[in-house]
Amino acid sequence: MRANADKDFTKYVLIVDDEEVNREMLGMILSSSYKVMYASDGDEALDMINSFSDFLSLVLLDILMPHKNGYEVLEEIAGDPSLQKIPVVVLTSEKEAEIKSLKLGAADFLTKPYDLPEVILARVAHAIDLYENANLIHATEKDNLTGLYNREFFFEYCDQYLKHHPDADVDAIVININRFHLINAMYGRAFGDQVLCAVSNRLRHSVMVLGGLASRYDADSFYLCVPHVESYEELYKSILSGVTEVLSDGESRLRIGINSNMPKDNSVEDNFSWALQACNSLRNQIGAPYAFFDENMHKKQIREAVLIDDFETALEEHQFKVFYQPKFNIEGDEPVLSSAEALVRWNHPKLGFISPGEFIPLFEENGLVRKLDRYVWSEAGRQIREWYDQIGVYMSVSVNVSRMDMYDDDITAFLSDIVINNDIPDGKYLLEVTESAYTDNAEQIIDVVKRLRAIGFKIEMDDFGTGYSSLNMLYALPIDILKIDKEFLRNILTDERAKKMVDLVIDIAGFMGIPTIAEGVELKEEYEVLKEMGCNVIQGYYFSKPLPVEDMTKMIMERKDDIK
Ligand code: C2E
Ligand code: CA
Ligand code: CA
Repeated sequence: MRANADKDFTKYVLIVDDEEVNREMLGMILSSSYKVMYASDGDEALDMINSFSDFLSLVLLDILMPHKNGYEVLEEIAGDPSLQKIPVVVLTSEKEAEIKSLKLGAADFLTKPYDLPEVILARVAHAIDLYENANLIHATEKDNLTGLYNREFFFEYCDQYLKHHPDADVDAIVININRFHLINAMYGRAFGDQVLCAVSNRLRHSVMVLGGLASRYDADSFYLCVPHVESYEELYKSILSGVTEVLSDGESRLRIGINSNMPKDNSVEDNFSWALQACNSLRNQIGAPYAFFDENMHKKQIREAVLIDDFETALEEHQFKVFYQPKFNIEGDEPVLSSAEALVRWNHPKLGFISPGEFIPLFEENGLVRKLDRYVWSEAGRQIREWYDQIGVYMSVSVNVSRMDMYDDDITAFLSDIVINNDIPDGKYLLEVTESAYTDNAEQIIDVVKRLRAIGFKIEMDDFGTGYSSLNMLYALPIDILKIDKEFLRNILTDERAKKMVDLVIDIAGFMGIPTIAEGVELKEEYEVLKEMGCNVIQGYYFSKPLPVEDMTKMIMERKDDIK
């Protein structure tokens, strides 16, 4: 590195001096070895340093300048971690200025009147050398693919940034690419990388303009710490234009969460976790691409913290209740009770009944769902046995299996214990696996599902129509029953195309020998249309809401002759 350091025309040096003669003289000396740029005052210098920070090798900085002087420039460089990697050599004639500049982070100084050209060149080369070696060590601060800060260093630099800008209003921003794993899956990793780089380039540009720091936090999420922005439209458009360079449907691809004017008395980590929460609130939402962390989200966050805190006690105290929603076979003249789905509710001592729609997604995020599911599965197994002992029929019950459960090595052992201990015949205990689980990590899921089927469980593919599996995939997937999602059904009475779609799904599934269940059937007309289409089983408010055990027991007693 040293060998070519004193004659290296790939390196840029910026000379900042308000006096033209000085600029010219230094320029003449340095241009024998470097590419030279000039600035004639502090503001111009900072503009150039910000714009060219990625390839500037050194700044020669005069201290005494009108408007913004050299100290102020040094201070701003010291306050911006992305600029600290550039060595600054101060030009001065005063002894005390030397000490002050060194304290502000200057790498070295040159005294006026200037030394021999050789001495100047040697000192410049030396400073560049020192910093390059140090930056080599710092290379690990950057993410390899995008060159943005990686997560390990980002928070630390944010801390520094905030310390150096104590009075500034600063925003914490989290940017995520929707369904990025699908981009990878559909077009390959190399293409996914292109998308990430396009976004990163825009972000780098944005922090160049706005100031602040950008990081690639993990796979497809980016964190920005920038001086407060009044309108996000421009930032959004800029990032979007990066995505659309690569992807034609970029529009649907971004979500941005903003913690505006982050409160400084909270840690940077907390501030970003709130921006993340705002970002996550946009999941599965069509419409505005950005959301601000606000009072409601704060309340929601507190409530979620309470739910997580109370979880263990709730489990011990049996606050979780399993309800059963009957399913009816509609192949014959009269609908016949055929099975039930176990659906959990939380009867919270202070908050009352809480819907699984609220706590299941929360527990899926932090893994608690695995414990809860096992509780529900055990309850359901025990209940099948109890109904048999009480009424003399084996009522088929399906339980919901979260995708997280699929990663537990002992899931097959746990489930088969339930069936064995309660002496439940094959096919009476069914598992509902959501469609998107199959597309998430297909191989792993398919492997587990195959093992479960091999020991007698029947598998229902839940929520069909919400994920991305195509109908021809059904051939390859190990499933016994297809459960059409309620949203898919919503419009069959009003929208001819929606109706045709459902009809087609039922036909193809039938052709493959897979029975279909339609969930969320609320109206008589819906039931009739579905029956006409050849749908086998129906579940929904039209027949019954999910019932507490006592009510379900009554229904089974009344209809026990229906149950085979
Ligand atoms: P899901 O598996 O799709 O369950 C069907 C949901 O639709 C249930 O909501 C049910 O009450 C509701 N539903 C049934 N019929 C109708 C209808 O006619 N119209 C409408 N609009 N809705 C109907 P619920 O009980 O609130 O559960 C929501 C989700 O929470 C479930 O969706 C499931 O994904 C999850 N869940 C519930 N219990 C468990 C559990 O024990 N474990 C896991 N992992 N997830 C569960
Ligand atoms: Ca279900
Ligand atoms: Ca469902």
